[in-house]
Amino acid sequence: MNNIAYIALGSNIGDRETYLRQAVALLHQHDAVTVTKVSSIYETDPVGYEDQDEFLNMAVEIKTSLNPFELLELTQHIENELGRTREVRWGPRTADLDILLFNRENIETEQLIVPHPRMYERLFVLAPLAEICPQVEKEATSAETDQEGVRVWKQKSGVDEFVHSES
Ligand code: ATP
Ligand code: CA
Ligand code: CA
Repeated sequence: MNNIAYIALGSNIGDRETYLRQAVALLHQHDAVTVTKVSSIYETDPVGYEDQDEFLNMAVEIKTSLNPFELLELTQHIENELGRTREVRWGPRTADLDILLFNRENIETEQLIVPHPRMYERLFVLAPLAEICPQVEKEATSAETDQEGVRVWKQKSGVDEFVHSES
């Protein structure tokens, strides 16, 4: 478990909080992954298409022995697991898991780009990430959150509250 990675999670369909919680629990359930930090949950006005519901967004820190590509496979598997049950009824996007950072690696392949190419322009990614990642500037993000349609929806709690509630 010698790699540290940060993952952004988002949901705007159905029971959004349950999807986030299930995604965190599924990450943690993997033998090669331990969830070590969880951010607050933020509510975010949709950017781009106004015709969709507001998002819940959060970020987690994990320790893992997976390599970045294995981690991408796992996050996509979790998206499918959570998406599949609701796909027919609610539409395709119940859970989105993006790999933000993986150690200090720079990866640029067709399947995977790390750091995530759009993370620095997205307050809904930076605000939760700044709570748990020492590399990210906290001051810059907390001052802006109110104006930018990104607000704390549920204050940060312990990892335990996430990984034991849904397993
Ligand atoms: P965005 O990437 O702008 O947040 P999105 O999350 O809606 O958009 P998806 O449809 O979920 O985009 O993902 C499209 C593809 O992005 C995935 O199939 C995956 O191969 C690729 N990808 C590249 N870099 C990453 C990354 N760091 N984390 C997750 N997926 C990535
Ligand atoms: Ca995304
Ligand atoms: Ca994605």
